[in-house]
Amino acid sequence: MYDNLKNSTFLIGKTLEELEELAILLNHKKFRGKQLFNWLYVQQVDNYENMSNLPVDFRNKLKNLSIHPLKLVQQKITDSKQTGKFLFSLNNGNLVESVLMHEGSRTTVCLSTQVGCAVDCDFCATAKMGFIQNLTSGEIIDQFLHLQKMSDNKITNVVFMGMGEPFLNYKNTLEAAHLLHDSRGINMGAWRITISTAGIVRKINQYAKDKEPFKLAVSLNGSNNNQRLKIMPITNACTLDELIEVSKAYTLKTRKRITFEYVMLKNINDSMQDAKNLISLIKSIKCKLNLIPYNEIDGPYRRPDDQTIMIFLKVFKNAPFPVTVRWSKGQDIDAGCGQLITKESKYNEKN
Ligand code: SAH
Repeated sequence: MYDNLKNSTFLIGKTLEELEELAILLNHKKFRGKQLFNWLYVQQVDNYENMSNLPVDFRNKLKNLSIHPLKLVQQKITDSKQTGKFLFSLNNGNLVESVLMHEGSRTTVCLSTQVGCAVDCDFCATAKMGFIQNLTSGEIIDQFLHLQKMSDNKITNVVFMGMGEPFLNYKNTLEAAHLLHDSRGINMGAWRITISTAGIVRKINQYAKDKEPFKLAVSLNGSNNNQRLKIMPITNACTLDELIEVSKAYTLKTRKRITFEYVMLKNINDSMQDAKNLISLIKSIKCKLNLIPYNEIDGPYRRPDDQTIMIFLKVFKNAPFPVTVRWSKGQDIDAGCGQLITKESKYNEKN
């Protein structure tokens, strides 16, 4: 009956226009779709009984559809209660993780866009799973809605830096970002939403061409081509110089600042020479640099000690762009950057 509606089994993920279409399909007035949109994304209610201004007949018909595509199956909170990691099961039993972080007045969520990842960065836990599947826009935004429910504070920022490569699930990721941003719904400012890519060039170009309003982060992680190639095989498809070129083109076209992320790996890319190379590489670009001390997973890579990080940081004293260090939160619960991996890839009801 609802075959012509995409992702038709779940309501979360549908846009206002799709819900209006659904209302009409169910023989109700178009404005009922807008009321439903409000219940889902503004009131964020979980059941049809609470949707008090919708006719009983409409609610009864809606009951053939579920609201949430995700089911929360596990949560871990750090002792400081600053960071939480949440494991969700998709309808088919595959698992994804999301992270909630509180810091000062900011509450940030880190969302996954894929189960597993095809990019194969050598230092990243998610890469070890291989690529399993793309998430729908509903499965992406549902992470946000579940986390908002569990958070005492209103979520102020969203980063697409969880499991997966957002630009290899471009359409669904952008649909989810637009749903977050929709002023009739969640209404999150575009500057509070950041999409991070390992460097999918044709999609960076498309993102610039489409003048997407969200922020863009690019994971550099190497200060020269050979070094990056060793840890990020995607450098075979696009050299570091090419990636710098498209990043620069993005900033010129959109007049926006780009964020470069740089995971610091002990004795691999953490020398003073690396810092100097990095400055020459990006100094002519309107950017910000985010240094991410490595969060160790099983594997050969180590985190530089704090002193090395501070020495590295000092090289940037006179750099023409701001630099921050992301002292990752939640490492004790494996919720730091790149530590998101689901050890069991399927949810088992007995768990
Ligand atoms: N695929 C996207 C987004 C997910 S990774 C991307 O590559 O940008 C988000 C960030 O975490 C990236 O900058 C990535 O390089 C970094 N990262 C991955 N594994 C990490 C680890 N173990 N420790 C610290 N940062 C890591």
